[in-house]
Amino acid sequence: MENLKENLLLLCDLQEIDTRIVNMEQNLINLPKKIEEKKREIINLKADFENKKAEYVKLNSLKKEKESALAAKESAIAKHTADLNTVKSNDLYKTCLLEIEKSKADKSNIEDEILILMDGIEKEMSNLKENEETLKKSESEINNSVSLIEQDIKKIQTEIDVLKKEREEFAKKINLNILSQYERIRENRNGQGLALVDGDSCTGCNMVLRPQLIMQATKCTEIVYCDNCSRILFNKK
Ligand SMILES: [Zn+2]
Repeated sequence: MENLKENLLLLCDLQEIDTRIVNMEQNLINLPKKIEEKKREIINLKADFENKKAEYVKLNSLKKEKESALAAKESAIAKHTADLNTVKSNDLYKTCLLEIEKSKADKSNIEDEILILMDGIEKEMSNLKENEETLKKSESEINNSVSLIEQDIKKIQTEIDVLKKEREEFAKKINLNILSQYERIRENRNGQGLALVDGDSCTGCNMVLRPQLIMQATKCTEIVYCDNCSRILFNKK
């Protein structure tokens, strides 16, 4: 009876190559997703910075509003002060004085508000500068890691091409019947068409094997399959 052990050993090596190819291909699927994540990170950081900038702009325009309110109060005070010289009655004179007092009090409140705003603006300004630097730093770090990933992708692609050629050559050494069985099974079994026996179980599906099957998988006089996962069984020992 012909012995398939030599072929099954070769098949083990072939499966190792196939596993490496499958893993690298998986990497090729995952790496572009990582790049997308990194790019989203930049977008989020920028949006964050823009929000802070908008806050700063808002404080500034609030300050401008307060400044024109202040100017209005100042001209009201000037107008009433001028009126004091021209009013004819005591009552009107008193009203003018009251208006001046009121405007002065308002003016003082607005001045306080402006001071608080200026304080806030100054703080926002220095925060913004700091944030801008952090943003630039993070952006260049993220861009660097993106280009490293892109290099990885190219490298892996080249490695896969080389390995696939090697695989093609290597596969020629294997008995065609065994090879085609293996190819057929691996298509439906997560890229794994061969399973080794480990102790009394199948390493493909971890199920305990019948003793007779283990014996056959050890003798290698015919191709045997795991009852559970249908992979080609082989006992190296
Ligand atoms: Zn199995």
